[in-house]
Amino acid sequence: MQYSQIEITHSIVCPSCNTKNPLTGLQDRHKCYNCLQLIDLSFINIHGAVASRVFFGGYYDVITEALALLAENEEGSFSGFRHNGYTFQYKKRSARCHTCGTAFPLGEIVAAAGWVTCASCSEKTPVRACVGELADEDPRIAFVVGETVESGVSEARHPVSLNCSSCGGSLVADGTSRTAECKYCNNTNYLPDAVWRHIHPVPPHLPFYVVYQNDPLSRMEALVQFTQDLGGPGQPRAVDYFGLHGEMKIIPTGDRALKVQSDLQAAMGELLLPENLGLLERLFDGKACHDVALCTMLMSPSFGPFLPSFWPRVHPRIMEQLAKQPRLDVQLVNYLAYSDNPRVRQEMANRSYLAYPETLEFLLKDPDEKVREVLARQFDQPLSYYETLASDASALVRAALAGNKVAPGEILRKLRGDPDENVKTIARNNPAYEPGFFDRLLGR
Ligand SMILES: [Zn+2]
Ligand SMILES: [Zn+2]
Ligand SMILES: [Zn+2]
Repeated sequence: MQYSQIEITHSIVCPSCNTKNPLTGLQDRHKCYNCLQLIDLSFINIHGAVASRVFFGGYYDVITEALALLAENEEGSFSGFRHNGYTFQYKKRSARCHTCGTAFPLGEIVAAAGWVTCASCSEKTPVRACVGELADEDPRIAFVVGETVESGVSEARHPVSLNCSSCGGSLVADGTSRTAECKYCNNTNYLPDAVWRHIHPVPPHLPFYVVYQNDPLSRMEALVQFTQDLGGPGQPRAVDYFGLHGEMKIIPTGDRALKVQSDLQAAMGELLLPENLGLLERLFDGKACHDVALCTMLMSPSFGPFLPSFWPRVHPRIMEQLAKQPRLDVQLVNYLAYSDNPRVRQEMANRSYLAYPETLEFLLKDPDEKVREVLARQFDQPLSYYETLASDASALVRAALAGNKVAPGEILRKLRGDPDENVKTIARNNPAYEPGFFDRLLGR
């Protein structure tokens, strides 16, 4: 299993008191350190933001950057976004100790039961295994390391004694409210900032780490997303980066571009292994980006030469799904046309304008009458194509041709004399037919 680690730092400006609150983990809500107002974080859809499979932060998905652009030991530059007082920053970086900065070996994170112990300073760092809610949001998130939130809401832990500003009597502020009533004179004391901060210390703004589990589908999607954005790994070009810091993202050229290309092939090869059939089928679960991802993947000029070696491993169920995709590459059409499944061949017959001549030959001889019937409805094919269909043994096929609005005149003329009454009638009623001199002479 491959993993990819992302360092995250984020904060929210309290909508009630306008104070910036550092956030130190993945959480749905947060209690303002200054005014104790509960801030709903679900509106920023933080899990979704972290998990986003499409655009994320800057120009492309951070996972893509981690997977496709950076070498295993290489860290990216910071990237991020701001939205309604919410600031998010991320970077590819391995989880590390907050105290001494030593990175944790991945094996220890994976094997952790609640925390990892730093090899250098023995400090313990929490590790949250992602099951349940978080896993539902994004099954790729495996662990969150180094969160310092406690149940998402900070509690008052340091009550202080102070004197009433009116009568000087002693009172205790327990932190449940920004004010304290004096039991001697009933004066309402507003707690000074210093006192309040003592009761509610603002934690240091520390990053935390999200460990992604990268199955071959996630990798392929990330790579496809990336190659699509950049016009294919063969054509790396600069991207207009509209993130926060105006830094240019890494542009894949040379070795990097080659790595993207080989990674893409490796991910596809892995995905086609029989044990990954379920993963591959997820490509067709109705999410728009998926079919684009697969088609782009299979259509990528860099992938084309590898199609023959992959093709025999594509499962018939995947072929059937693939055949239904609205946008199919020429090469794919010509592969799918030779499928054993007549439904797949019918779909390809409907795209005969993309078929190579030898593929057309093959389909015209298809034992399935429905495939030939579909062919008979196609436009703008060579005359020989229509001639073959006009003498087809099946009346169903000839009837389809007789109703074809762009069938050549000589073909329609032939079908107007067809032995089958139905075919004859359809051909005679075809508005595309313009009678020639002899037709008029003979009253046909
Ligand atoms: Zn506040
Ligand atoms: Zn340490
Ligand atoms: Zn008082």
